[in-house]
Amino acid sequence: MNNNRNNRSAPAKRQGGTSSNNTGINISYNTVCLVLCLAFALVNLRVFSLIITSNDTLKAKIAVPVISEEEQRKIDEQERIKKDIEENFITIPVSFDDTRRGNLILVNDTHEYSFDAISTVVADEQAITIPDSSDASYWVKSNYDLLKPNVLENIDRLLCDFAIENNNTDVMILDTFRSYEDQQRVLANKIEQLGEQQGRKIATNPGFSEHHTCLAIDLTLFNGKEYGEYDGQGIYKWITDNCKDYGFVIRYGSDKTDITGIDYEPWHLRYVGNEHAYYMTQNNLCLEEYITLLSQYTVDGQRLKFTDGDGNSYSVYSCVVGEEGGTVHVPRNGSYTLSGDNDGRIIVTCKTSY
Ligand SMILES: [Zn+2]
Repeated sequence: MNNNRNNRSAPAKRQGGTSSNNTGINISYNTVCLVLCLAFALVNLRVFSLIITSNDTLKAKIAVPVISEEEQRKIDEQERIKKDIEENFITIPVSFDDTRRGNLILVNDTHEYSFDAISTVVADEQAITIPDSSDASYWVKSNYDLLKPNVLENIDRLLCDFAIENNNTDVMILDTFRSYEDQQRVLANKIEQLGEQQGRKIATNPGFSEHHTCLAIDLTLFNGKEYGEYDGQGIYKWITDNCKDYGFVIRYGSDKTDITGIDYEPWHLRYVGNEHAYYMTQNNLCLEEYITLLSQYTVDGQRLKFTDGDGNSYSVYSCVVGEEGGTVHVPRNGSYTLSGDNDGRIIVTCKTSY
C-alpha cells in the first residue's frame, strides 16, 4: 500500500515533468494561464506606460515650447534693443507744436503750415532779413525778405562757391518768405494770368506754401540790367548737383510731379539739413517720400542708418506725438537734432551710430 501510495504520489512531486499524460495537460494548462496572465500584465503595463509617456510628452510640449531659430533671433534682438534703449537713451517731453517746426517739416497741399506753433524743444530760430552778398557773389531782390539764420548761412556759402567755381555772379535770391496774405496775392495773380486750373497748379493755397517756412528759396538770374529765367541748366547745373552739400534739395523734381503735385521747379531750393539732403539726393527721394520712409523707423524698431560723403554716420528715427504732447527718446550722450515732420511726428537725427 505504502508502495502504491508512494507510487501514486511520486508523479505529483514531479509536476511539470512528462511522466503522465493527465498530469502533463494540467501542467501545460497552468503554464499557459500563467503565461497569459503575464502577457496580459505586460500588455497593460505597456499601454499604461504609453499613456504616461504620451502625457509626459504632452506636458513637455506645453511646458517647454519649441522656438525656431528665427523666433529666438527676434527675441534676442528685442532684448538687445531694450537694453540699448535703457543704457543709451533718455526721454524728454515734447509738445504737439514741436511736430510743426524744424528743418524737415512737410508743407504741401495736405499739410498746412502752422503760423502760430511755438516749439519747446525743436530749435526754431527767429527768421532774419537777408543782407546783400558780402563779396557781391550774388544778388538779393529784397533785403526785407526773411530766412532762418542757418538757411541764410548755407545759401550764402552755396552761391559764393558757385560764383568762384563758375566765375559767374548772375544768380539772384528772388523770393524766400511769404506771409499768408502774400500767398493769397501770388495765387490771385497766377489765376489771373493763367486761368483757374493752371494758376492753382503753379501757386499753392495760402497756408500750404513752403515759402511760409523761411526754409525755401526761389532763385532767378540778373545781370545788373535785366532778369533771366533760372532753369538749372548749363553752368547753373552746378547748383543742382552740389546744393545737397549745403543742406538743400531741389524740392520739386521733374520726376516727382505726380507725388509733389507741383511742376518741375529747378529754381526752388528747400533747406532740410546736410545729412538729410545727402540721403534724399543719393536715394532720389522727394520730401513726401522721405517723410513717409522716416515714419517707418522707430527707436525700438529699426533705425535708418547711413554714412554721408564726409564719412559722418547717422541714425535716424521718428516718434509719434499726440495733440496732448508726449515724450521722445534721445541719446543720453552724443549729439542729436530734432525736427517735426508736420505730420504728427518728431524726427530724431543722431550723429554717430546709436
Ligand atoms: Zn518757390
